[in-house]
Amino acid sequence: MKTIVVGGGASGMISAIFQARNGNEVTLIEKNEKLGKKLYITGKGRCNLTNHCSPEEVLFNVVSNPKFLMGAVNTFSPSDVMSFFEEIGLTLKTERGNRVFPVSDKSSDVIKVLERELNRLNVNVNFNETAKSLIVDGNRIIGIITDKNEYFADKVIVATGGLSYPSTGSTGDGYTFAKTVGHAVTSLYPSLCGINLKGSDFKELQGLTLKNVKVSLYDGNKPYYEEQGEMLFTHYGVSGPLILTGSALTARHKQNGVKLLIDFKPALSQKQLDQRILRDFQSANNKELKNVLIELLPKTAIPLIIKRANVSEYKKVSIITSEERARLVYALKNCEFEVESLRGYNEAVITSGGISVKEINPKTMESKLISGLYFVGEVLDVDAFTGGFNLQIAFSTGYLAGIQ
Ligand SMILES: Cc1cc2nc3c(=O)[nH]c(=O)nc-3n(C[C@H](O)[C@H](O)[C@H](O)COP(=O)(O)OP(=O)(O)OC[C@H]3O[C@@H](n4cnc5c(N)ncnc54)[C@H](O)[C@@H]3O)c2cc1C
Repeated sequence: MKTIVVGGGASGMISAIFQARNGNEVTLIEKNEKLGKKLYITGKGRCNLTNHCSPEEVLFNVVSNPKFLMGAVNTFSPSDVMSFFEEIGLTLKTERGNRVFPVSDKSSDVIKVLERELNRLNVNVNFNETAKSLIVDGNRIIGIITDKNEYFADKVIVATGGLSYPSTGSTGDGYTFAKTVGHAVTSLYPSLCGINLKGSDFKELQGLTLKNVKVSLYDGNKPYYEEQGEMLFTHYGVSGPLILTGSALTARHKQNGVKLLIDFKPALSQKQLDQRILRDFQSANNKELKNVLIELLPKTAIPLIIKRANVSEYKKVSIITSEERARLVYALKNCEFEVESLRGYNEAVITSGGISVKEINPKTMESKLISGLYFVGEVLDVDAFTGGFNLQIAFSTGYLAGIQ
């Protein structure tokens, strides 16, 4: 049997390896001059290739369509991914939050072992070749057309990725292929990215990293996201781990009228914070407000909080009223910003949205419309939080199509 795999990223390489292990004649078409350009930049060049947790925990971290992925993640689980990589010669380690990396801390080693396995299995890898369209006969795939050639095959596995970091080769080609053969593609959004804020006062905080703060995102009165951890201010707004996770929930659901709230002191209730400030004021006696808040806040955040509380920064703390103190407490626990938009695909770790999973068989990743045609990885309408879950999805879906 002949198989064409389009895209030499995480999911495509896994599909090609398992198709070849099943004795098929496999050709992998990659538009770049090398394999795994995006894999190379994952995990800040260290490649967080999975998360050492149960399939249930993986699914808990999937934002879009976890049910659809249940079969794939159970069939090729994080433990299976780890065994597979160890078996082809990559030694792994598990870090904080169960994040799995190569011991060498080099994503290039992940690509190297995959490439070696593809070579060992005699997979034909065609570089610098771009798939342009699918060839379909009735409701069966029979091949593809590239910018160089026409190929006929029994199976075609589309593993072209999403739209994020287009410089790595992921330019959304798979969405077009899917649409031209009748598949629905859901709306696409950048996800796991920074958030642009409206206004300009946040710019005073540019470069400030905040640890142990609580971030909430509101669309109306109820927060749809609340989490404690680390974030940072940038020239455009906010970023960092808390914000990336929040962006994934903002991507497809909300964007207009969203508010971001920062609680600088989540460990203290309003009353406890008021008492703490009062104590600071009493022991500082005659100092000016801006010099006393240094005990409580990073220096760069002080002017903004004082402004929001509408108190003079030069006021002596001994004469600050309880009302003014209450305004300070409020500003510290409810520092609000208006969200303008999400950052674009050039900075987004993943694409939210993709080929509708309703028309894909979750047990095989085969199209329900065109037999012999498979879609795997980020091109599908699936995405997850950070922590190795997105590569796990690429490997699990790639594997399912690979063993067919
Ligand atoms: C900066 C960054 C860091 C990340 N870090 C992590 C991490 O540490 N852990 C994690 O789990 N996830 C991480 N991700 C997400 C992860 O990289 C993706 O989810 C994953 O690579 C998706 O795999 P894929 O095979 O679907 O697509 P891709 O890896 O994008 O591969 C698609 C391939 O298809 C090729 N292609 C596209 N169109 C064509 C065509 N027409 N013809 C031929 N070839 C084509 C592309 O050139 C590309 O090589 C990160 C992403 C980014 C951008």
